[in-house]
Amino acid sequence: YTRIVLQERPGAGDITPTTFRTESLPLAGLAPNAGELLVQVHWLSLDPAMRGWLNDARSYVPPVQIGEVMRAAGLGTVVQAGEGAAFRAGDLVRGTFGWTEYAVMKAKAVEKIELPKGAELLDFLGPLGMSGMTAYFGLEDVGQLQPGETLVVSGAAGSVGSLVCQMGKKRGAKVVAIAGSPEKCAWLEREVGVDRALNYKDPQWKEEMKKVGWVDVYFDNVGGEMLDFLLTRLNKGARIALCGAISDYNRKPKGLTSYLALIGQRAKLQGFIVFDYADQFPKAMKEIAGWLADGSLKRKFHIVEGLENAPSALTMLFTGGNTGKLVVKVDHG
Ligand code: NDP
Repeated sequence: YTRIVLQERPGAGDITPTTFRTESLPLAGLAPNAGELLVQVHWLSLDPAMRGWLNDARSYVPPVQIGEVMRAAGLGTVVQAGEGAAFRAGDLVRGTFGWTEYAVMKAKAVEKIELPKGAELLDFLGPLGMSGMTAYFGLEDVGQLQPGETLVVSGAAGSVGSLVCQMGKKRGAKVVAIAGSPEKCAWLEREVGVDRALNYKDPQWKEEMKKVGWVDVYFDNVGGEMLDFLLTRLNKGARIALCGAISDYNRKPKGLTSYLALIGQRAKLQGFIVFDYADQFPKAMKEIAGWLADGSLKRKFHIVEGLENAPSALTMLFTGGNTGKLVVKVDHG
């Protein structure tokens, strides 16, 4: 079977062809002990956070070690269950399997999937996965969005962003989306249903944003200069949910200059990590599953075929090559 391991750390720059290495190992060597499962992996999630896991730095999870299989959340099927594991061959499961076709996992670290009505398997990497939980709690708990407020979402055509936009509309906000191409903006306005979508690569976008009026909640996926600009557009009492800062993941951040506006506008800027809300996931999943069942939540998956393409696909997140949730289909055919 094939797996992909971290070969060298990319430092402060881009992921390169020598960052990862592919390995071939005999499947016969993989067998579950008591309390373990052998899982065949079908789908893997690609996430901007993976860039951070490649750095040898303090974070909310330890870095991936050199020679270790690249960490990734995935969906798979149990092939064989060790003694005492409460699973059966054929069970659909979610877990942090990594970039590999097969993984031996502690049964306790794996979650059995039961598809709610209207949901498909891939939704467990999208609206019913970490993207959905991040959007939900970032907006509800950190953003404290109220009906009638103006919500601005950056990285809006991505996995988290496109869900935040729709949840904002469901909560009665005016939603302004920021994304990196005319096609993404058209999708956001026509399909996702935002009030306005602005292309940040258009030199006029800041002028257009000024016409939108003051911002009550800024759900920030991008950080850097975009955050610096949005800080000048805050309404009194605005909240900024600092979800991510993808523009700074591949480089040394340059200094913010507009953060003093937080003081004058009595605004809050708060970072969060989705795992802090783990005990409340069932509540969010219930409401999101309801939107999937009634057909009111749109989701888009950008599917890359073949585990061998995971490293190059990961770089897509940093060039904007994806619309919606980027996933890898591990098995061909
Ligand atoms: P996305 O599907 O949004 O993919 C990333 C997108 O970011 C790209 O498609 C690209 O779109 C945009 N982007 C890349 N570089 C830049 C740049 N320099 N400036 C502006 N936009 C850029 O990924 P996710 O939905 O998975 O993640 C979105 C954010 O949420 C990330 O910052 C991630 O780290 C964060 N996150 C945080 C969590 C938490 O617990 N706090 C949990 C999960 C995710 P475009 O074409 O528009 O440029």
